[in-house]
Amino acid sequence: MTLHDENEFKIKGYNNALFNLERYNESLSQTKIDDIEKIQGVGKSTAKTIDELTQTGEIGALEKLKEKTPVGIMEMLKIKGLGTKKIKTIWQQMGIEDTSTLLEVIEKGELSKVKGFGEKTAQNIKEILLFIQANKHKLHYSKAEKIANDLCDTLKKEFPNDLIEVTGEVRRKLEIINEIKLVVGTDSKQKLINYFNSFPDIVYDEIHSGPQTWRGKLKEGGITIIIKFSSKKRFYNTLLSTSSSPIHLSHIVKDDLTLNKIIKNNTIGSEEEAYSKIGVPFIVPEIREGQFEWEAATKDKLPKLVEMSDLKGILHNHSTWSDGKHSLKDMAAYCHELGYQYLGISDHSTSAFYYANGLKEERVIAQHKEIDQLNEEMTPFKIFKGIESDILPDGRLDYDDDMLASFDFIVASIHSGLSMDIKKATDRLLTAIANPFTTMLGHPTGRLLLQRKGYPIDHKTIIDACAEYGVIIEINANPWRLDLDWRWVHYAIEKGVMLSINPDAHEKDGYADMYYGLCVGRKGGLTADMTFNSFSLEQVQNHFSKRKKRALAQIK
Ligand SMILES: [Zn+2]
Ligand SMILES: [Zn+2]
Repeated sequence: MTLHDENEFKIKGYNNALFNLERYNESLSQTKIDDIEKIQGVGKSTAKTIDELTQTGEIGALEKLKEKTPVGIMEMLKIKGLGTKKIKTIWQQMGIEDTSTLLEVIEKGELSKVKGFGEKTAQNIKEILLFIQANKHKLHYSKAEKIANDLCDTLKKEFPNDLIEVTGEVRRKLEIINEIKLVVGTDSKQKLINYFNSFPDIVYDEIHSGPQTWRGKLKEGGITIIIKFSSKKRFYNTLLSTSSSPIHLSHIVKDDLTLNKIIKNNTIGSEEEAYSKIGVPFIVPEIREGQFEWEAATKDKLPKLVEMSDLKGILHNHSTWSDGKHSLKDMAAYCHELGYQYLGISDHSTSAFYYANGLKEERVIAQHKEIDQLNEEMTPFKIFKGIESDILPDGRLDYDDDMLASFDFIVASIHSGLSMDIKKATDRLLTAIANPFTTMLGHPTGRLLLQRKGYPIDHKTIIDACAEYGVIIEINANPWRLDLDWRWVHYAIEKGVMLSINPDAHEKDGYADMYYGLCVGRKGGLTADMTFNSFSLEQVQNHFSKRKKRALAQIK
């Protein structure tokens, strides 16, 4: 509506309705139109629009606007950091209708001359556009894993006599997937090829296919699908070689012996068999990265990786007190229902007031009252009083010490002022880590995978500081974040820094993301005893109390 110069009053009305509807806990399609009208900020005309959506599946007025908007402009609307007003200028003043023309114009230096843009903004937009271009046909692990498993299940049903497994990047549980790969052990290859060629959701890529490899692209989103064929006899050879990184395969274990050579010179009946031929225990696919696994395996010290069943509680979550979708009570009840012992609620803090409904002091006090009451009702289950405190540009947390002392734990995170160089970002985090009230560092780099690079940080310095000050680092388990990156998990463990697998849930379903954080932890060799939220309720309580006592002693 902004793009098409609609009535500003109407636009404000919709925004206001949206803000309130996002906090409405019932299903709108099950709510009568008269009752929808009564929801705060909604009113007659918006209620009618919602009713239209429920009845017909679309909103006529919106469809008309979409028809009048070029595809390229719709794409620009999805870019974070490029607001509607700027897009309007690009489209209506400059006549640009797609991202590749926009990129050309920036490269010629023409955008920076337009009022409201300037050199720095133009460069920022350029970086975002290049980033999106480079990530176009990639997928988050969460999405790719599902596609790969579904495809694998379909094939297994269709060809029950063949050996079929997911392999490649998905089997190694990498955070971003470039290609989905399956290995098929069969003695009737042509039958499978015929089947793939007529598969409805995948377009065959003849040029890049070969006698042992069938390649295609998924119609939706365009990710590459690869089917690797082998004989049934050599199935496990192919599975092992396609689900290990090159550096894992070529590592010289002893006397010139590599996994590569074992695979080449033997026909193995299982992956375990290959490892036992080298004289080491089985190494799971997700740690076959050449990081630490060989040294550990040869000393018979492979870590016992943390499992879902080790996790006793869920920390770092939001409720309707800030920008979450479900009430504190619902979040707690569902956490309890899933079998966890405790929930750490950490809504947004005071400086997030404008973008995430962050809690000013008096609302913190009110929330604590509600938590006390819920804790009485739900005992022995416990809600810990936390906050996700914004780290200000100078590294301070955004409450005074008295307020900070009223929480059980504090997740310190950066949410604004993200364009920093490595020195500024690292110093900002270091100041927050040194704050005696900081319990945990939230999403260390602020990255959003496939959408925005994080600010650059000196990981080693940050982890060393967390070790010095006893600060836990979160593995933010949201599939868009997965931050701390798995490449730094092992270093953190070596330094004795505990990690906490946190879903950063903004709704009940968000708890399911814990699994993706678990994958990241496991990739880095994380064990249950180094995972903070594998602690029992009592252990967590003790840790929080001890930290707070120490903090209070320090500020005296
Ligand atoms: Zn956050
Ligand atoms: Zn959060």
